[in-house]
Amino acid sequence: MTPRRAPDGRRVVVTGGAGFIGSHLCEALVARGDRVVAVDDLSTGAADNLSSLRADSGFELVVADVSEGLAVDGDVDAVLHFASPASPPDYLARPLETLAVGSEGTRHALALASAHEARFILASTSEVYGDPVVHPQPESYWGNVNPVGPRSVYDEAKRFAEALTMATHRAKGLDVGIVRIFNTYGPRLRPGDGRVVSNFLVQALEGRPLTVYGDGSQTRSLCFVEDEVAGILALVDSTLTGPVNIGNPNELTILELAHAVLGLTGSASEIVYEPLPTDDPTRRRPDIALARRELGWEPVVALEEGLRRTAEFFTSGTPQGAGGRP
Ligand code: UDP
Repeated sequence: MTPRRAPDGRRVVVTGGAGFIGSHLCEALVARGDRVVAVDDLSTGAADNLSSLRADSGFELVVADVSEGLAVDGDVDAVLHFASPASPPDYLARPLETLAVGSEGTRHALALASAHEARFILASTSEVYGDPVVHPQPESYWGNVNPVGPRSVYDEAKRFAEALTMATHRAKGLDVGIVRIFNTYGPRLRPGDGRVVSNFLVQALEGRPLTVYGDGSQTRSLCFVEDEVAGILALVDSTLTGPVNIGNPNELTILELAHAVLGLTGSASEIVYEPLPTDDPTRRRPDIALARRELGWEPVVALEEGLRRTAEFFTSGTPQGAGGRP
């Protein structure tokens, strides 16, 4: 296993800290005694995601667009670059912003880490594998990405961000780690963000039809956000460069997921079929041997429990609105 560092009250900058994964990450860092500066332009994130930290003296939120620059005063021991639209409808609606945050945003986050000789963690994605011809996907697989299709704004931005991160590591000796995040779900998914779990749960809870794109035979492997954050923290605390897949290998078809959501919620909603988005990957499942071996990490939350906890979030009255396409 890769050696670990002790978390000892370090000061950590989290770009995208008001986002879905970013906000859970900020909470976990503060809970263990780290000081956190979240930087977010609130374009797809929300300050409310950080309401539990607002009164904490070890936490601050800076509203700024990391693509424009990243100025943080004082000590910086780690920079976690999580800023980016991540839901397909979100990044398809913000194509140039998504490319900018993957390129210029990553450049600024790397510069901040370099100036402080801080550890840098890049939030990358299973989308770097595109529509994979190797299954499940190990980190050594180079992927099958359409470089000019609509999804390329996200896929290629993240691939460029990985390249920039590795080039900085090689050229300047910066301590870096790359996490490839697979489909993640849980509380704080925006009900209208268009991702499959939020769409299906909100549709089922509101008694509206569940919108299955294509014939529903495409697969995904869904990781509960608490597990995902535990894996990311293990990478932060390690000396591993990666890239390393952090995701749940429990693969299911989208139609199976629709039925699981109907079963869990007891909803009488019907299933309707809508066109498959362009270049929608046919299958996706992480090979997590590297994370198990080097980080001692694996997911522990079962799909049913994770869906139940996410459904509770949607029924708790916090979020409003229906899922759907932009
Ligand atoms: N999907 C679906 N219905 C929806 C939303 C998504 O069938 O209402 C499908 C989508 O086509 C994809 C899968 O669910 O095959 C996962 O989509 P999501 O947008 O959550 O993430 P992706 O893995 O595509 O980035």
